[in-house]
Amino acid sequence: MKQSNNTSRREFLHQSAVLGAGAVLAQSSNLFAEKSSGLGNGPYPAEGMAGYSETGPLQFLKFQRRALGPKDVAIKIHYCGVCHSDIHTIHGDWGNIHYPQIVGHELAGEVVAIGTSVSKFDVGSRVGVGTMVDSCRHCPECLRGSENYCENGNTQTYGSKDRDGSITQGGYSTFVVVDEDFVLSIPASIDLAGAGPLLCAGITTYSPLRHWSVAPGKKVLVAGLGGLGHLAVQFATKMGADVTVVTTTPDKEEDARRFGAKDVLINKDGADWSKYKRAFDFILDMIPYQHDLDRFLPLLKRDATFCRVGVGKLTTPNEYGQMTTVLERTSLAGSNTAAFERLRKCWISALLRTSNRRSQRYRWAESTKRGRGSLRNKPGTVSLWTWR
Ligand SMILES: [Zn+2]
Ligand SMILES: [Zn+2]
Repeated sequence: MKQSNNTSRREFLHQSAVLGAGAVLAQSSNLFAEKSSGLGNGPYPAEGMAGYSETGPLQFLKFQRRALGPKDVAIKIHYCGVCHSDIHTIHGDWGNIHYPQIVGHELAGEVVAIGTSVSKFDVGSRVGVGTMVDSCRHCPECLRGSENYCENGNTQTYGSKDRDGSITQGGYSTFVVVDEDFVLSIPASIDLAGAGPLLCAGITTYSPLRHWSVAPGKKVLVAGLGGLGHLAVQFATKMGADVTVVTTTPDKEEDARRFGAKDVLINKDGADWSKYKRAFDFILDMIPYQHDLDRFLPLLKRDATFCRVGVGKLTTPNEYGQMTTVLERTSLAGSNTAAFERLRKCWISALLRTSNRRSQRYRWAESTKRGRGSLRNKPGTVSLWTWR
């Protein structure tokens, strides 16, 4: 690699990140199309917004994405969805992390360079990256296409040890380099801002609904109407289920019904849910903090399943009574995102079709096009940047 080429690309990337105009991004594709043919494949200077402590605001960070491996693609990130996992991670709720840490695992953008063996994408491809960027590839789970349950631990999009020993940095940044096996194609008919949130919130709720065979005639309880819950209601409704929503926020009732719920329970102390005892075939729990599971488990029919996908602070686990599952032979389960091959083959199109009522209130994506100036100078534009 000639140093002059490398230097000029870095300067260009820096400028495009700062300026962030669509025209500049279009130029970047052309530039990389030329350079990806062998004139240099990184490492890629990148910029992002990182947590530097458990409680401080996100702050600007310059860093480098790795050089392209044969199967890697470099992606210019246009949008990144905001997930509660990001907040849990920065706050250290799920264990100690290495600061500075950039979070964000609902990336949507455009391929700007490809490695020599990449076969699924080309420069200019519209793509997304979700919660994982690698896995061991050889354990029984990986071999059966369930890398989200990799026995050796998959590499998460942020906060994981990467193949080169560095800690992965997430999507609130300008560029990312990812193995093509962990990149999804986004159809031209789908806007990138809307596609990102499906890659964590979407698949995390869609996967258990499919696994536990939600279908017409089934009664489903969706616990928590937030970023995940508002998609879960829509998916379960489209699958034909009779959906009820539980929320602590009374003014979400109208939204819940608009998303497809037939009934809404307000979760507050003293609420009488006795008429819902043994009423549901499946409960999907998205509540991201400690709560009383004994309010929910008795609402399951015999042999039915309560599945958690929301995870709170690990030091404050949920508890439930010893007899709760025994009396009705019910199951308490959990589920972790979804496998890529399944997503690629069929789920992504289903997700995109069925989540047509998106709502800024429940899930949004941050644009990285505005560049660092906007991110730094307008922290009040979105709560993410000032969550503490
Ligand atoms: Zn997430
Ligand atoms: Zn594995």
